[in-house]
Amino acid sequence: MPIVRLQRLSLVDYPGNLSAKAVVPGCNFRCPYCVKSALIDGYQANPLVPESEVLSHLYRVRGYLTGLCLGGGEPTLHNGLLAFLYKVKSLGYRVKLDTNGTRPRRIRKLMEERVIDYVAMDVKAPLERYSEVVASKVDVESVEQSIKLLRRGSVDYEFRTTVVPGLVDGRDLEEIARVLIGSKRFVIQQHRLGRTLDPEFGDVKPFGMDEIRSFREKVSPYFAECEIRQI
Ligand code: SF4
Repeated sequence: MPIVRLQRLSLVDYPGNLSAKAVVPGCNFRCPYCVKSALIDGYQANPLVPESEVLSHLYRVRGYLTGLCLGGGEPTLHNGLLAFLYKVKSLGYRVKLDTNGTRPRRIRKLMEERVIDYVAMDVKAPLERYSEVVASKVDVESVEQSIKLLRRGSVDYEFRTTVVPGLVDGRDLEEIARVLIGSKRFVIQQHRLGRTLDPEFGDVKPFGMDEIRSFREKVSPYFAECEIRQI
């Protein structure tokens, strides 16, 4: 399982858990506002963190940390994911998976094998605008399948959408909310400034918090919980 970074302690990545975070490279999307370009293109040139180093850290801090968050990039692209998570679970950790939801069969398998305890799935755009927003060809049915899987499954989950001026706004959020209506938890994320995949998005000023709060007012009736997160 390729891992490019191990964050040994995170207070924010796994709700309710003190966790470590392992960052996995590679992604099948090219969101123009993504600030993780080092993870997406050319990551093969960078040294990996050996899986054994992640596992031995988790072994050492058992009892202090309770969770591992697996983020990326897109972790479900990698064949070694299940085998890695068996090892993590054998150490007694809860596992949170961050995913873009394009590999529903793999997510189902992870659920069946009980190696994930929480899934945070990005819902990037209204379904008809998906490919445009993530600048990649997307099998939208796969995204829909992952949404259904999480809503019907027994694993805790959240859906989250990043709002970006000129790309994903309040009206898009309302369309997304209509697709996700009745879901347990929805998170609105403010986009981050930085070196973006599409340089044109590098200086797009994020929506202000007042605007984001007004978006939340409109979509929160669709969900049991609706929160704002600054990433
Ligand atoms: S923001 Fe988009 S391109 Fe970047 S890692 Fe997430 S899904 Fe992939």
